[in-house]
Amino acid sequence: MIKRLSWLSTLKSVKVNRENATGLCVGCLSPNAINGLCGPCHADLPVNRWHCRCCALPLAHSGDGHLCGDCLKSPPPFDHSLIPWRYQYPIDNMISRYKYSRQHKFARPLIAGLSDHLGHALQNDDYAKPHLLIPSPMHPARRRTRGFNQARDIAEQVSKALNIPVGAGVVRRVRRVQAQRGLGREARLANLEAVFEVCAEVPERVAIVDDVVTTGATMRVLARALRDAGAQDIQIWALARTPG
Ligand SMILES: [Zn+2]
Ligand SMILES: [Zn+2]
Repeated sequence: MIKRLSWLSTLKSVKVNRENATGLCVGCLSPNAINGLCGPCHADLPVNRWHCRCCALPLAHSGDGHLCGDCLKSPPPFDHSLIPWRYQYPIDNMISRYKYSRQHKFARPLIAGLSDHLGHALQNDDYAKPHLLIPSPMHPARRRTRGFNQARDIAEQVSKALNIPVGAGVVRRVRRVQAQRGLGREARLANLEAVFEVCAEVPERVAIVDDVVTTGATMRVLARALRDAGAQDIQIWALARTPG
């Protein structure tokens, strides 16, 4: 009888371990993870605390309502950006594993954190709730190589959390562009000309969803296309923003 009981308890502990294995922290393998990240690893994520109030570019100092030089010089065609983290270690690493190796477990804590961040912002009435989420479109050729559009994946999960529909087919990327990095501002905008095509009706309030916002040039062009199609309040929602 004793032998049987100990066999049963071994079985039980194997089961418990298996359950924990799905909940391990992707940062340190601690079993006390929520959405795949433990408390200390979550606290270590680089929060985008001080930033431009329009494009969320990280700034060195606090200051209510600060705008970055770019937004001051040339106001973008979008209204606000809600981007909780800075694109630096370990966020960069986690997003790369998700995007290029399709290891979705690395995105899970980030998408859950983004949804919480957005939920709080909308609850505090700081921002009007968008009518539609527009994933930043990917050229079909790139989607075939990558296997999925991460912007759409993020938008679909945020959609479930906040109960806002996703308009995946509203904008199409009709032309591939060369890499934006290393190009000057004017060249970047010229490079993006006629890249997007709006193919459906656009409601008054929309949020463009992406994984990372780098130069902001893509967001400007995409927001311009949506504004021309009738959007009046355009927000940018993303996981992380590069420092510049
Ligand atoms: Zn951890
Ligand atoms: Zn700015």
